[in-house]
Amino acid sequence: MLKKELEIFSFNDLLHHFPIRHIDKTQVQPISDIHAGTDFIQVKGKLMQMDIIGEKRGKRLVVQIKDQTGSLELTWFQGIHWIQKNLYIGSEYLVFGKTGFFNGKPQMVHPEIEVYTPAKSGGASFLEPVYPSTEKLKARGLNGRQIGKLTQVLIGSLKPTDIPENIPEQVRQQLKLIGRYEAYCAIHFPTSEAIYKKALERLKFEEFFIAQIRLQLVRVQRNHFSKGVVFEKVGNYFTDFYNHHLPFALTGAQKRVLKEIRQDTGSGHQMNRLLQGDVGSGKTIVALLSMLLAADNGYQSCLMAPTEILAQQHFQGISALLKEMPIEVALLTGSTKTAERKRILQGLLDDTIHLVIGTHAVIEEVVQFKNLGLVIVDEQHRFGVAQRAKLWTKAAIPPHVLVMTATPIPRTLAMTAYGDLEYSVMDELPPGRIPITTVQRNEMKRMQVMDFVKEEITKGRQAYIIYPLIEESEKLSYEDLMQGYEQVKTYFPEPKYKISMVHGRMPADQKDTNMARFVKGDTQIMVSTTVIEVGVNVPNATVMVIESAEKFGLSQLHQLRGRVGRGSEKSFCILLTGSKASKEARERISIMCATNDGFKIAEKDLDMRGPGDIEGTRQSGELNFKLASIVTDKGMLEKARAVAEKLVHEDENLEKPAHEGLKIFLQSQKTRFGWGKIS
Ligand code: ADP
Ligand code: MG
Repeated sequence: MLKKELEIFSFNDLLHHFPIRHIDKTQVQPISDIHAGTDFIQVKGKLMQMDIIGEKRGKRLVVQIKDQTGSLELTWFQGIHWIQKNLYIGSEYLVFGKTGFFNGKPQMVHPEIEVYTPAKSGGASFLEPVYPSTEKLKARGLNGRQIGKLTQVLIGSLKPTDIPENIPEQVRQQLKLIGRYEAYCAIHFPTSEAIYKKALERLKFEEFFIAQIRLQLVRVQRNHFSKGVVFEKVGNYFTDFYNHHLPFALTGAQKRVLKEIRQDTGSGHQMNRLLQGDVGSGKTIVALLSMLLAADNGYQSCLMAPTEILAQQHFQGISALLKEMPIEVALLTGSTKTAERKRILQGLLDDTIHLVIGTHAVIEEVVQFKNLGLVIVDEQHRFGVAQRAKLWTKAAIPPHVLVMTATPIPRTLAMTAYGDLEYSVMDELPPGRIPITTVQRNEMKRMQVMDFVKEEITKGRQAYIIYPLIEESEKLSYEDLMQGYEQVKTYFPEPKYKISMVHGRMPADQKDTNMARFVKGDTQIMVSTTVIEVGVNVPNATVMVIESAEKFGLSQLHQLRGRVGRGSEKSFCILLTGSKASKEARERISIMCATNDGFKIAEKDLDMRGPGDIEGTRQSGELNFKLASIVTDKGMLEKARAVAEKLVHEDENLEKPAHEGLKIFLQSQKTRFGWGKIS
C-alpha cells in the first residue's frame, strides 16, 4: 500500500518522505474556538455518536465529538466501515484537520484521528511531524501520523554511521551547516523551530550540492575521456566569408561568443556549449561562422532545427549567403524525396556535402558522415537530452556540440538543467533595431486593431494573426482558427488582400507553400496557430496580433513577439484578451507590455510557474529536488554551484581524504548519470 500510493519502497524512501508540517501536540484547542476563518486545528474530545448515513455515493460516516466547550462533526466518505470498526463511543480522541462549516455547524472531513494519550513531558521532541498521505491510505487508517510513527521507529534505530556525512567538513564549517545524521533526525523530529530550520537548510544545500558535483564531474570527466576534434586554424572559408559575404558587422556579443567557440573547438576537448541569446540576437550567423570554421579544418557540420519550416528557412538563408562559396549545403528532412535523400546520404559519406541542415531526420535516419566535426542544435527547447545523446554515435571522436536556445532561460534553470554545458550569453541585439511596442486590447476593440493592421499593410508591411493552440483540445483550436480565418477574410477581402494560413493539421507541403508565400511577400497576412512560433524570419512583418493572449505562456508570447521587429521598421505587438483573464494571465500580459528583454521575462516566467513547467525541461529529472527550489533558493544554488565547481576543479577524482565521504556517497547511489560521458 505504501509502495503504490507514495512510492515508498525502502527505509531510505521513508527517511526521505519529509513531513509537510509539524504540530505541537500540547496545543489542543477548544472546539468553541472554531470559527469561519479557522484553517487547521487540533482538538480533543469524547466520541459521543457514530452513524453511517446516506445512500450510494452519498454514503458517509458521521461522528460527533464533544469537549467542554462544544461539539464537532467529523465526516468520512471513504473507508467508512474500517474507520467505524476502529473507533469507540465514549473514548477520548485527538483530532486534527481542516475545518469547515456545514449547515452552520463546524465540521471536519477526513480528519486525522487517534486515541488521545497525554503528551509525554520531557520527551526529546515536542514537535510532531505530519506527513503527506493520500486519501486512500488515510481511509485505511494510515494517515500522516501513522507514517510518522514508522519513521520514528526507523530514526530511533539509526546510528550516526548509518547516515554518513557527504558534505566535506570544510564546506560545512564554512557554511555553518549541521551534520547529515543530525539533519535527518531534526527534519523529522525537531526539538525546536530553530533546529528544524538548520536541518532544512542543510538538506536543501545537500540536494543542490550533490547535483552540482555530479554535473561538474560529468563535465570534467567528459573533457578527459572524450578527445575532441581540433579546429586548429581559421582558414579561407571563414576569412573569405567574413571579409566578402558577411552582410553586416557582427555585434560585440556575436564576436565574443565566436571567440569562445574558437577556444573550445581548438582545445582538443569536445565542446559542449549552450548559447543563450534573446530572440533576434543573431544566433544564426554565429552558427554559420562556426560551421565555416569546421569546414576550414576539413570537418562536416550539421545544423538541426525543430521544425521543417525552420530547417527550410535556415537552408534557404544559408545557401543564399554561401552562394558564391565552394561549400556544398544540403537539406534533409522527413519529407526529402527518396532520390534526393540517397544523394545526400552518399554525399555525407564521401564528404562531398559539407553542411547538412535538417530536422530530427538528421539524427534519426541512418545518416552517417565521413567526418562530422560540429553539430548545432537550434532552438533546443524541443530537443530532449536523449536526442542530443544520439549524436555520439555519428563519429568516432564525438563532434563539438553547440546548443542554441530559442528564448533565454533563467540562470538557475540553466545551471541545473544544462549545468554540465559551458555557457555563452548573447545579450546584445544588432544595432538599429527599434524596440517593439506592445499593447493589450480587449477583444471588443478588434475592429480598431484590424484597422491598424490595414494601415500597416497599406504602408507595404506584413502582419501575423495568431490563434492559441490548446493542447487538450486540438479540435477546439482548429475551430477557433477557422472561425478566426473567416473573420479575418471579412476584414481583409480578396483580391485586395492576400492571406496565408498555416496550422498543425495541414499537410507539410501545403504548410510550406503557404509559409513560403508569406516569406516572399506574396501574401500580407499570416493567420496561424503557434506553429510559426519558433525562428521564422520575415523582416518585413511589423504587426503581431495575438488572439486570446491570456491563454499563452510568457516565453511563448515573447517568442511570438520576436517574429516582428526584425527589420528596420517600427513594429507592434497587440495582445487581444477576453474580459475573463485570470490574475496570472493579466500579470503575464503586463510584463509583456513592460519589457522586451527576454532574460527578464524568463526570470518572471520561472517565478510565476515554477521549474516544472518551463518548456523543454519537464523531462529533466535534474530539477526534481525534494526540499530545495531553484525559484526560492536561488542564492543557495549559486553557492552550491560555486563550491562544487571549486571542489571538482581541485580534486576531480575526489581522491583527497576530505572528499572520501562524498565519493562513497556518489558511488552508492544509483544515478541517472554517473561518471561517464553523457550530454
Ligand atoms: P535569432 O537569434 O533569433 O535566431 P537570427 O539569427 O534569426 O536571430 O537573426 C535575426 C535577424 O538579425 C536576421 O535578419 C539577421 O540577418 C539579423 N542580424 C544578425 N546579426 C546581425 C548584425 N550583427 N547586424 C545586423 N543584423 C543582424
Ligand atoms: Mg533563430
